[in-house]
Amino acid sequence: MDVLFQDITIVTMNPLEPVLEHAYLGTQCDKIVYVDTKKPEEPAKKVISGKGHVLIPGLVNAHTHIAMTALRGYADDQTLTTWLFDKILPAEARLTGDMVYHCARLGMLEAIASGTTAICDMYFSAPQIALAASELGIRAHVGNVPLETGEGFNLADGSISDTYELLTRFAEDPLITVFTGVHAVHNSNPSVWSWVNGVADKYNLPFCMHMSETAEDVDSSFRKFGKTPTAALEAAKLFHHPTVAAHCVHLTDEDIAIMREYGVTAASCPVSNLKLASGIAPLTKLKEAGVNIALGTDGVASNNNLDMFEEMKLSVLLQKNLTGDAAALSAYDALYFATVGGSVALGRGETCGRLMTGFDADIVMLDFTAPHLNPCHHVISNLVYAARGSDVELTMVRGRILYENRQFTVADPQKVIADANSLVASVFRS
Ligand SMILES: [Zn+2]
Repeated sequence: MDVLFQDITIVTMNPLEPVLEHAYLGTQCDKIVYVDTKKPEEPAKKVISGKGHVLIPGLVNAHTHIAMTALRGYADDQTLTTWLFDKILPAEARLTGDMVYHCARLGMLEAIASGTTAICDMYFSAPQIALAASELGIRAHVGNVPLETGEGFNLADGSISDTYELLTRFAEDPLITVFTGVHAVHNSNPSVWSWVNGVADKYNLPFCMHMSETAEDVDSSFRKFGKTPTAALEAAKLFHHPTVAAHCVHLTDEDIAIMREYGVTAASCPVSNLKLASGIAPLTKLKEAGVNIALGTDGVASNNNLDMFEEMKLSVLLQKNLTGDAAALSAYDALYFATVGGSVALGRGETCGRLMTGFDADIVMLDFTAPHLNPCHHVISNLVYAARGSDVELTMVRGRILYENRQFTVADPQKVIADANSLVASVFRS
């Protein structure tokens, strides 16, 4: 085997044996080939001592706009309307494809260093984001989705050329999956939906969208279509494709039933929802209804980091307070959302999200020797309630180590930071 982690605590997310102590995990090429408490007989090319360390499945950031690192801290503490229309959209209009590439690289290093092995990213210049992911070795579901122009569907929309470029350039790249979809119901229309349905049918693409993020999203959908966003999208037959719906804050019971019926994933972004005062997604109800739940950071302009450990902790704390029941959701639920739920969302539930033989070697190792992680009565409790992204010491995707001993193996971080900072400064100082 290629890599053997030895004498380590493994949080497998395998329901039969969720946690193994003093265990061994081996990888070969892009797969996990050995998980046991007995030492394997087969030698390994590289052995990593796991004493005081914990292995978890790679975290999935199921909703982000990773190149928005360009706008980290650019427009905080504004109302949502001021933030979006007066600050973020005009600033985004100044971002070039080159900036998207370099700021995506910056965001991906941040993600890798905090234990994220896959992202689901919706943004313009999406081929630049796919290129950055392919180079740095992180999995990426990428798409640029059309927006309403006010005059029906515009064939000059950059999302169309981006979609075809992604399908052509990255067809053979195992790290890249292309999606299409709608930005949101409030800024799309039936002609946009018809186009995305057509391209999804033709190329067998999944969908991503923002759905019911704010109360105003729901109000505008009622004004335009006389239905909630979920009901409007169902009526347009959009859920016939595997769908990741970000936010899902303002849902009716009927909406939740529709999501369950069509297998729509709710990608909850608790930090972003709190920062923009959008509300709290009803994750407890969604879980009870059997809807798949994943977690995301959203873009850093509304977060302001890509640390999935913050999302895990907040996702369950908010539910305890939303329901008035401290037992509403558990630490295990949060870790499940960020690993298994995220992998199911991205269509990889059979191959990613668990540390089991035959699964892809998307693996994260944390240092559990720090004061804030001791004592350790329950490893999953410490992972969700006490750990943070900076406790990650190693990140592996498809068997390739991208980050080891808190050092990147795939890029010089100082150069990535300098490139992004200088491009951002050149645009926002002028
Ligand atoms: Zn978003």
